[in-house]
Amino acid sequence: MNKTVSVNNGIIVTMNNKREVFNGSILIENNRIVQVEKGVSRLKADEEIDASGSIVTPGFVCSHTHLYGILLRGAPLKLKPPSDFTQNLQRIWWPMDETMNEDDAYISALTASLELLRSGTTTFADTFSGPNAIKGVLDMIEKGVLEAGIRGFISFEATQRRSNEEGFEGLKENERYIKKSKDERMNGMVSIHASFTVHDDLLKAGKELSDKYSVPITIHTSEGKWDLYHNLERYGKRTFERLYDLGILGERTLVAHAVQVNEDELRLIASTRTSVAHNALSNMLNAVGIAPVPEMLSMGINVSIGNDGYVFDTFENIRATYLIHKVNKLDPRVMSFQQVLEMSTINAAKALGIADRLGSIEAGKLADVVIIRPAVRPTPLNSGSAYGYLVNSVNGKDVDTVIVNGEVLLKGGKFVKINIEEINKKAEKMVADYWRRLENASEKVEVLGL
Ligand SMILES: [Zn+2]
Repeated sequence: MNKTVSVNNGIIVTMNNKREVFNGSILIENNRIVQVEKGVSRLKADEEIDASGSIVTPGFVCSHTHLYGILLRGAPLKLKPPSDFTQNLQRIWWPMDETMNEDDAYISALTASLELLRSGTTTFADTFSGPNAIKGVLDMIEKGVLEAGIRGFISFEATQRRSNEEGFEGLKENERYIKKSKDERMNGMVSIHASFTVHDDLLKAGKELSDKYSVPITIHTSEGKWDLYHNLERYGKRTFERLYDLGILGERTLVAHAVQVNEDELRLIASTRTSVAHNALSNMLNAVGIAPVPEMLSMGINVSIGNDGYVFDTFENIRATYLIHKVNKLDPRVMSFQQVLEMSTINAAKALGIADRLGSIEAGKLADVVIIRPAVRPTPLNSGSAYGYLVNSVNGKDVDTVIVNGEVLLKGGKFVKINIEEINKKAEKMVADYWRRLENASEKVEVLGL
């Protein structure tokens, strides 16, 4: 039996090739969009949703996150405040990784996926790190994501910061999950932490895996200065030069950050058609610098938006991306509404190799649709003002309805399939236990034996 859902009379921000925005309606059959119609109409369906007074967008795509980062929210960390990004890894993230077990991975995946869904993100690319929970951990993350109901690329972040073997174990877990993932909403990919925590052999093995299974490979690159110094000192090369020489860059490669890069490196990113995940809020938090995104865009580099496991509200990340480059360049013309909306939809889908089926509202694409209904509309909401509303004023709480794979998961701002109070209670108990263990974790993790 076919199930149909229609979304009627909304301002549709299509993100199609022509970037059309118009008043219209959408018909969904099972998990696909089958009709997109301009003008006032009511498309008959089993479930008809009135979207008047609303903006209708494709499901947003977050190209870089760490779902388990959500466990840091309000965490009682007793530590000397880090004075740079590397200390941030040593004092916060690495003890956090080492404390993670399978249950922590599950509850963080579930709650983070719900936060993403609540603000309209329907697909994400996650990398998990936890040296004491490697084999099988991606199944626990999958369980959490599937309970929430959204789509994900999930992966284990391979690193040799503790031992060479552990790096390859991480890759093995990625391969196991890539081969195993059966649900159409879930995908595996390859993840490598960063060039400064791995040898060349692991980088090459990761790329081979990505090529073998035609899945994305993602790596933190040139986030802080440490990455650059490490590669200059050990290899006599800047970070992207080393990755280029090893054959790591390419169309299936998604680098997170690319902050500490020069023009030569940008040319390598552009010529290899490598994609970039830009994480403006995280870059500010970690004080690593500002990625040269306007330059990347003018060179034709595919830039997308990630949240890096920090703030999960889709619109806060969009807005930060819109603003940070203006003040950096002292030029308010830098970054347009359309550019930041592309970066959070179609560009992010392209970065993950799924632009043929997600990232825009078009007949034939998978039915991931978001209805945003601003409670207060002080100015006319129409096809001319929709971009301005989305980038300048909307936040996650304005998201009214979210449809993923043809299924209505959020309606009237409420979760349809989920008892959120029950999940909050469960999370509170589990995370309190995680925090107790984290408090005991070593403040100092050995930097590198590389
Ligand atoms: Zn990251």
